[in-house]
Amino acid sequence: MECEAASDGMHYEGTCIRPPSEAMSILLQVTTGCSHNKCTFCGTYKDKRFRIKDNDMILSDILFASKYMKRQDRLFLMDGDALIIPQKRLLWILEQIETHLPWVRRVGAYANAKSISMKTPEQLAELKEHRLGILYLGVESGDDRVLEAICKGTSADKLVEMGRKVREAGIKLSVTVLLGIAGKERSLEHARATGEVLSRMDPNYVGALTVMLIPGTPLHDDYLAGKFELPSQRGLLLELREMIAHTNLSRGLFFSNHASNYLPIKARLPAGKQQALDLIDGALEGDVPLKPEWLRAL
Ligand code: SF4
Repeated sequence: MECEAASDGMHYEGTCIRPPSEAMSILLQVTTGCSHNKCTFCGTYKDKRFRIKDNDMILSDILFASKYMKRQDRLFLMDGDALIIPQKRLLWILEQIETHLPWVRRVGAYANAKSISMKTPEQLAELKEHRLGILYLGVESGDDRVLEAICKGTSADKLVEMGRKVREAGIKLSVTVLLGIAGKERSLEHARATGEVLSRMDPNYVGALTVMLIPGTPLHDDYLAGKFELPSQRGLLLELREMIAHTNLSRGLFFSNHASNYLPIKARLPAGKQQALDLIDGALEGDVPLKPEWLRAL
């Protein structure tokens, strides 16, 4: 069957986000929203009900990209957790990408513990054969008490198991952790537990973001009610230091250069660990400048 490329552009719905490293990628929206949509700090998809988009619309966007996006060799499947799409349908999407966008070398998507657990190791390997090259997993914390408090819907052990499953399938794993998410009291326990989970999981990339309080989210409500207190700027640096000190990766990159952070760090672990700790110590002593509040953003 001959298909006509849509002339009216890509069919994006609502707020669309992608990881910073996918800024130059073709952004193909195959689902709307997030199938979990319960994390207390996250306001990203509050305006959307989760659904998988129609095959016709997905194909129309792929055909549009095949005409107008010939220079982009990476593609990111939006929204929340495209990996939750049933295997047969996800394979169909990847096959359409292979057929119509043969220059795309790597496809990426967000995933969560549930969507990874629903794929067998063989299914993940099959997706990898069809160019699914990287999955982005929100770990947020390695501390079970924090995971429960933020309604992450999973445990630290499960996150480790799922992260390892992705890596064993030959798919790159990029995870995010949240500075400040444990509040002031549990900050250092969260940092240590998170470092330990990262060490057991051994991802290719770790991005440490600072939690931002988004109006309308349960976490923001707790903050207004005095039930949640963010660590101070110094407290966040100590938390980052403790987390890095407890993180042992075989060859992963640890970033804290997101726009939400006070101190940008990019360290290849284990080699760059001491240098990163020294930089944080310099900031704690006031020798290294921090990003001013007005420059921080999501
Ligand atoms: S799984 Fe991710 S996108 Fe979904 S609610 Fe949690 S943080 Fe937000």
